[in-house]
Parts: sequence; structure tokens; C-alpha cells
Amino acid sequence: MNRRAFLAALSAAALAPRANAAFASVAPRRKKVVIVGGGMAGLSCAYELRKYNFDIVVLEGQGRAGGRVQTLREGLYPGLSAETGATRIPDTHEFTLSYVREFGLTLEPFHNGDFADVVHLHGKNYVGDHNPEPDWPLQLTAEERRLGRKGLAERYMAGPLQSLVKGDENSLNVPKAILEQDNATLGDYLKKQGLSPDAIELLTLGGDTTVSAGLLFLVELNEQISRQYFHIAGGNDQLPAALANQVGGAIRYGCKVVSLGQDDGGAWAVIENAEGHETVRGDHIVCTLPFSVAKNLFSDAHLPLDKQRAIRELNYLPVNKTFLQMRNQFWKKNGQSGFANTDLLSERFWAMGSGSPDQRGLLWSYVIGSKAAKLDQMDMQSRIKQTLADAESVFPGADEHFEGARTKSWGQDPWHLGGLSAFAPGQLSSIPVNARREGRIFFAGEHTSRWNGWIQGAIESAHRVVKEIRA
Ligand SMILES: Cc1cc2nc3c(=O)[nH]c(=O)nc-3n(C[C@H](O)[C@H](O)[C@H](O)COP(=O)(O)OP(=O)(O)OC[C@H]3O[C@@H](n4cnc5c(N)ncnc54)[C@H](O)[C@@H]3O)c2cc1C
Repeated sequence: MNRRAFLAALSAAALAPRANAAFASVAPRRKKVVIVGGGMAGLSCAYELRKYNFDIVVLEGQGRAGGRVQTLREGLYPGLSAETGATRIPDTHEFTLSYVREFGLTLEPFHNGDFADVVHLHGKNYVGDHNPEPDWPLQLTAEERRLGRKGLAERYMAGPLQSLVKGDENSLNVPKAILEQDNATLGDYLKKQGLSPDAIELLTLGGDTTVSAGLLFLVELNEQISRQYFHIAGGNDQLPAALANQVGGAIRYGCKVVSLGQDDGGAWAVIENAEGHETVRGDHIVCTLPFSVAKNLFSDAHLPLDKQRAIRELNYLPVNKTFLQMRNQFWKKNGQSGFANTDLLSERFWAMGSGSPDQRGLLWSYVIGSKAAKLDQMDMQSRIKQTLADAESVFPGADEHFEGARTKSWGQDPWHLGGLSAFAPGQLSSIPVNARREGRIFFAGEHTSRWNGWIQGAIESAHRVVKEIRA
């Protein structure tokens, strides 16, 4: 280096700190985002926004993260765990699976019990999916009897769907052809196809017929394109736990949000916690709360009328799960999978238990809609007693093997007031309204996604909001 170059380098070096200092003084302020709700949508949002250097805070009302991903272990035999909410991950849910991979979580296969192996009708067990078709104790037409349960599903749900959504399977929006079915309840749609009341009962056993027919097509689409389902070994709550671990100190637990507002200068959330009330301000708010619990929060938010209506009217279904711990998986020894659809109060049974049938396992009722509302009227002991009696009818030996129970009602959980957003006719079409940004307030959560009712929907909505905030 010659003298001139040396001096030039020296003066550049001497100037550098001052230049940096000058730069620092004009560097844009980090934008602050207040995220309301620490379920999968809120946590994913926080995790992704952190990558872009946003200043974030997550306000969670409960003392735990994860929301509707909740794994119970306490009171169960060591090694057993009960998923009160999200249980299975389809192999097509790339948003969910990419986080599972990113956090190094282990997946195990989960039996897909949607077309239940046992159909329990009028006090008797039938094996639904095997030939020959059972002689159903129902008043079916000759054609309905010939088609059987699987054939009916094929003709009225799966068949039409295949031609309707070809190529649209992975669209971020609800496929147009499905939206066209959003004007009737599932029950009315099937009636319009000419099905007898008993055929509708057979086809929809364990399901709610008051939801939008379009929603059922969306659920069916998911089933059709997924070949395999998984569960996170050791419990699904490890997924929100991994995200919470990443965003660590940014989560404020025990902070119930009671009001959200915005003006030209910013946006704010008013929280209620052990210390009283506090206003948390930011440049933006992301509201991930289910609309079922968000109805009274927006008086200072200046929301347009269609958004107010969407929040007020979105339908949520009560969901009830009662887990029965069994001394061994006796149902397997009896040639049963543990999955059943029934005409009992416990309208659906699922099961889980690893290894040999001699090991302990869980048999649980999974009840959605009007029957869940009935169970919600009972005290906990009566609910468990009822579930055990129903289990004994479907899986003989349940009584004898029963060791203990845990039960969860999402309808009675004050942080959710319902398990699943269950779009009524017309509401599937308003997902874009649910999801629409209103000034400084952004909306995420499963109810704002075409994958509503899935973890995938919560994560996808978070990715969308991050894009909107960065735009
Ligand atoms: C019974 C059941 C079965 C399911 N099965 C599956 C499945 O098999 N596979 C699958 O992928 N998905 C399943 N899901 C759906 C999945 O669990 C949800 O779609 C997803 O977890 C929703 O995440 P979210 O963040 O949108 O909402 P949430 O999880 O509801 O998060 C909202 C958060 O907001 C908090 N909150 C509420 N009110 C306030 C307030 N005022 N102030 C501050 N915080 C508040 C809540 O405590 C909660 O943590 C199931 C859900 C249920 C209920």
C-alpha cells in the first residue's frame, strides 16, 4: 500500500464510526406488533415476525401457550397422553409439517378413524367397511341399500368433489366449486339429492348436519387428498412449546385482552391481569382470538359493518372429549380398532395406545355439536359415567378394564367458547372478510383460513399476516 492509499484507508476508518453513528440516528424505528392470543396462529406470527426484526409482544390470557393444541398427561399412566384438541396431522399439511421438521419433532403414524371401523346402530355393532354390506336396521330404498354406507359417501360426497376441484386441491382459497355449495346445510344438500332420512342418518352418523354443505366438501377434500395421518410422538403440545421457546420472553401470560383500539397514531390492546388494567401500544395489532371470544373487544376499533357482523355471527360448535384409561387395549384383542361412529350420546370413539394390546391405552369419546351441548349440561362425574356406559355398549369389556378418566369441554372453556369454527351456510364465503386487515388491526387464526379447524389453518393465516404487515 502506498502512502496516499494508506492515508485514504486511515481517513475512511476514522470516518467510519461517525458515519455509522450518523446512520444509527436515522435508522428506522423497529415496528412494534402486539399479538393477541398465544395459540398456534399467534405463536407462528411471533416466530415469523421475529425473523424480520419486528419488536413483538404476545398477550395470552391463560398460563400456557398452545390454545387448542393441548396435551394432558397429569392423572394418566406414565407414557400416556390425551390430546384434548388437535390430534392428527395429515401428510398434505405442509405448513404444519415444515415446523415439525424445523423443530426436529418426531412423528408417529395415527390411525385415520374417519370412516369408522364400527358403526353402532340401534344397540348393535356393524362392521361398516367390509363386504358384504351390513343389513342396516334402517328404512333405506333398494338403491340406498345396494350402495351401502361407503357407496353413498362415494356417490354424494367424494364423487362430485373429484370433478369439482380438480387442480384446486392446494389452493390457498376455498375452491370456487366448493363455495357454490355454501348456500345450504349439509342435511338440506343431501335431502335435495333425494336421500331418505335414514340414508342421511347412516351417512352422517357422528357428524353435524347443520353446518354448510360447502364446509363438509372442504373436510372431505382434505380426507381425499391425504394418504396418511401423524401424531407427534410424546404429545402434539411439543409443537406450540417449541415455538414458545423460540419467542421466549416476548410472551406475556395471564394477560386477558378486554379491548382493542386504533387511531392514526397507532393501535392498542387493553389487558386485565393480576396488577389491574394496562394499555399495551404498538404500530399494529394481530388479533388471533377465535371470534367466539372476541365479540366484545372492538368498540374502539372502528370496524366496518360486514366485519362486525362476521365476528358476531360466526358459528362455533361445542366439542367434548372424555378419555377413558384402560388397563390394556382389550378392544384390539377383540378385533376392534377402537374407532366407532354411533347413534349414542358418545357419537364417536377414537383410541390410542402404543405397542402390544397388553399395554395400557386410551379410548375416548369425541362429540361435536348438539350432543356435546347435552354432555355440557352434565357434571363431570355423570359425563364420565355416560361415556363409560356408551363405551361398554360398543366395546364390550370397557367397564372391566376402566381405570380412570379425564374430560374436556371446549364449549365451557372460557378462552374458546367452542371447539371449532363450523361455518353455517354463507359463512364459508366470508372467510376473506374474517381475514381482512382493518387499518392497523390484522386478523389471523384458523377461522381466517381455508384450512379452518386445522393447525395448518392457524399457521397459514400467520404467514399471510406477516406478508401483509411487511408489504
Ligand atoms: C377438539 C378439537 C380437535 C381438533 N383436531 C385437530 C386435528 O386433529 N388436527 C389439526 O391439525 N387440528 C385440529 N384441531 C384444530 C386446531 O387445534 C386449531 O385449528 C388451532 O389450534 C387453532 O389455533 P389458533 O391460534 O387459531 O386458535 P387458538 O388455539 O384458539 O388460540 C387462541 C388463543 O387465544 C387465547 N385467548 C382467548 N381469549 C383471550 C383473551 N381475551 N385475551 C388473551 N388471550 C386470549 C386462548 O387462550 C388461546 O391460547 C382441533 C381442534 C379441536 C378443538
